[in-house]
Amino acid sequence: MTGYADYLQKIDNSEAIYALPQNELGKEKAASILNKVSKEGRNYVLEPEVKQILSLYGIRVTKERVCSSIDEAISTANEICYPVVLKVVSPEVIHKSDFGGVEIGIKDDSELKEAYTRILKNVQSKMPDANINGVSVQEMARGKEVMIGSVKDQDFGPLMVFGMGGILVEAVRDVSYRLAPVTGSEAQQMIEEISNYPLLKGYRGEKGVNLEKLRDSIARVSLLLVDFPEINEMDLNPVFVNENEAIVADGRMFI
Ligand code: ADP
Ligand code: MG
Repeated sequence: MTGYADYLQKIDNSEAIYALPQNELGKEKAASILNKVSKEGRNYVLEPEVKQILSLYGIRVTKERVCSSIDEAISTANEICYPVVLKVVSPEVIHKSDFGGVEIGIKDDSELKEAYTRILKNVQSKMPDANINGVSVQEMARGKEVMIGSVKDQDFGPLMVFGMGGILVEAVRDVSYRLAPVTGSEAQQMIEEISNYPLLKGYRGEKGVNLEKLRDSIARVSLLLVDFPEINEMDLNPVFVNENEAIVADGRMFI
């Protein structure tokens, strides 16, 4: 059974609003990206590849392009609009910021030039053997940082994890779990179960985030996991949620 059929079987009419459009074309394209990764003998799916796959499943990711020169990066940044984020793209670099491979809040062409050069220098000095595919120029997302992840359960398949992003997820382990596929209302439960839920919902007059977009993203990610059992582990961290949308800003996967 496809992930989508599983999903439809699980939801009742009251959730019809979350029934996602079946997109076989998106699934095929996602499969070809994953095929290419395994043909190259990799099990680490790079951030740009992960984001391409997510967008094929209707999940909002940052606008971005992998660039191979400063000139290309500058024209991309002007197309996307400053401020932008720069990140190294390398199959050997898994935790990009640990290697000085991420620069955020870049405001203009001259800052971009410096950041671009610094990133390459950092990565080359800390990991001389790393192959560098390019530098990703990305829209700077804003909002509260959450994470959507998954691990593989031997018996039950993909187990989804949701929690606050950044250091909160590692330090406090404030997370909730559900087996995929996850319906809209199960996604809502996952969101409400974490103890930082009031931060997302909004309190004392502070505006909350768009929970509908967030649970839609969680549900769509769960479909992707059901469609591709070869995904052993996934970590979308951070996903930025604000009053309008949920935007995936970083993602890695292991197949
Ligand atoms: P790492 O591989 O180290 O996890 P990330 O891509 O998550 O690298 O970047 C590190 C941090 O930089 C993130 O946790 C987030 O706070 C910030 N960041 C990354 N991408 C963006 C973006 N597009 N917009 C805004 N902030 C970002
Ligand atoms: Mg990250």
